[in-house]
Amino acid sequence: MAGYSRRINSWAGFAGKKGPGFCVICGQFGELTRDHVPPQGCVHITNAVLSRLTMDSQSTGQQRDSIYIQGGLKFQTLCATCNNHRLGLDYDPELKYFVDQMRIGMQAVVRNVVLPRIVRVEVDLHLVARSVIGHILAAHAVEDTQTWRQDIGASESLRQYFLHSDRAFPDDWRLYCWPYLSRKQVILRHAGWMDISLPDAGDKTVYGHIMKFLPFGFWLVHNRPLDFIIDALDITPRGVPDSVQEAISFDLRRTPHYLYPENPAGHQIMLFNNQQSSVAEPAPVRAKSRL
Ligand SMILES: [Zn+2]
Repeated sequence: MAGYSRRINSWAGFAGKKGPGFCVICGQFGELTRDHVPPQGCVHITNAVLSRLTMDSQSTGQQRDSIYIQGGLKFQTLCATCNNHRLGLDYDPELKYFVDQMRIGMQAVVRNVVLPRIVRVEVDLHLVARSVIGHILAAHAVEDTQTWRQDIGASESLRQYFLHSDRAFPDDWRLYCWPYLSRKQVILRHAGWMDISLPDAGDKTVYGHIMKFLPFGFWLVHNRPLDFIIDALDITPRGVPDSVQEAISFDLRRTPHYLYPENPAGHQIMLFNNQQSSVAEPAPVRAKSRL
């Protein structure tokens, strides 16, 4: 993955060449627009401190790899059609509906702890999946838009699914979801997880992308071996899109730790590149730029 932007301020759009570029989803060249990740409407947008998943630059004594950002994390990497039309009009409203139902359900649980802690929501999973995929694909530094990049990993099938609303979810991917109860917003792309307890080498590893923001964690997983346990609900959309809402139940008693899955335990190991990660957390009111 040589050539990706290393600096966190490039990732967040504070540096690098501005102006026209290639939309990182559809490839169209032109003026690019800013995409909020997580999307507007799904989170309360606040000023934030943005850093990498691990603070490796601190150990070298060089400039800290964290910055103060105003108005949430944005990536100026999408054309207006992908950002405003496909995401903004077609897909994001369903993700917002998903988030709103979960928030309402969680508030009901807090008010009456005697009831079983189950939150039931109904949602069109194809629209939710396309929204999640679009925002994960958008998470690039501005300078990454200056040349059109060939497929990395297995992203091409996700890109095609996002762009063609009549297609079935790609066979080689699964989408997992779980209640996520932290205000830290995490993006982690192109990461691998290994379970060393599994006997066959080919079955030990999964690859994928993570996006987490209150109240959900999402994990796109490529070619999951059957024996590799994922501690989350499989919400992979089935069949062709038909605008039908599916019922999903979340058991809040089985909520994974907020560092799941980027802090593996037991027999699991994670492999990732810090430059493909970011963590945004609400900034203290008086925080100032660290640049
Ligand atoms: Zn586009």
